[in-house]
Amino acid sequence: MASFHLVGDFLERHAIDPNPTNFELVYRHQVSRESGLDHIINSLIANDVLEGSIPESADVAFDAELSEIADFATTQLEAIEVILERSKSEAKGYGTALEKEARGVENSGVPGKFVDSLVKLTRTMISKTKEAEEELNSRKATMNELQNSLAEARVRADTDALTGLSNRRAFERELGAACERANFGEKQLSLAICDVDHFKSINDRFGHVTGDRVLQLVGDILRTHCLDQGKIFRFGGEEFVILFEGLEVKEANALVDRTRRDLASRKIVKKETGEELGAITFSGGICDYTTASSPEEMLKLADKSLYRAKANGRNIILTA
Ligand code: GH3
Ligand code: MG
Ligand code: MG
Repeated sequence: MASFHLVGDFLERHAIDPNPTNFELVYRHQVSRESGLDHIINSLIANDVLEGSIPESADVAFDAELSEIADFATTQLEAIEVILERSKSEAKGYGTALEKEARGVENSGVPGKFVDSLVKLTRTMISKTKEAEEELNSRKATMNELQNSLAEARVRADTDALTGLSNRRAFERELGAACERANFGEKQLSLAICDVDHFKSINDRFGHVTGDRVLQLVGDILRTHCLDQGKIFRFGGEEFVILFEGLEVKEANALVDRTRRDLASRKIVKKETGEELGAITFSGGICDYTTASSPEEMLKLADKSLYRAKANGRNIILTA
């Protein structure tokens, strides 16, 4: 967890707001030693407001590490929260007891300089205790903000930046959990892998930016048809996976095939130039969990079917 301290120290030393964006930037600058971020870090140190979006991360391991850091920090914060709560109630109890004592001394009727100074001293202690309680309240508020930032960071660590879909890391976790449920006979489970056909040639002919937009479009069309019944992930590159729980494999196939037909029937043009991209299609492989003995095998079988779909001329969905 050395990188957590490194980033934390840097943020604190330069009084930089510890939000997820700043955390990521400092991590990439200080830990990954990514070049080209100097000017952004300098403006953060100078407390300038950042304009525009931050550059796309070159470090794919960052998401995983960020999540690990978020877990670690959350545990630390939870421990601090317990201590703060205890201190707060102790401070409050102490203040109430002092106040009672002060009133008792005041009303005791015993005159004298000694009692006067005792009352004065007690009053000062009460006000100090109140200050401590307020200070603890304000620390608690800062801590809540930090916890929210960490929750955001965790969501980001599971999200693919280009499509907004969940990423491969999230998929691996969800696949394991879904297989567990299927093992207990709770729900049926099938898995689909979709791979855009000849995607390399889309990049080659129209450029990477257009390629990226095509991936966003595929993600959106998958959402339109499959989101109600399945969980959609960007597996990597031009590959998407969908987990269908509680559906017959036939129904899952029908949904993915409907998505395929929708995409293939669209006339897609490049916005800036009006240039036609031609038909864009994907192929898919689907596997029912009952035909596999493990999550890994299920993935392998779906991939095999995808391979068959490619060999069969593409733009088709096949079941294992
Ligand atoms: P096939 O029909 O057999 O799947 O052919 P393909 O060209 O789709 O497959 P191939 O694996 O040869 O090429 C995939 C390409 O996807 C190569 C890679 O540069 C591109 N790619 C991967 N990730 C991204 C991305 O995030 N954006 C863009 N624009 N391209 C990407
Ligand atoms: Mg591929
Ligand atoms: Mg492909």
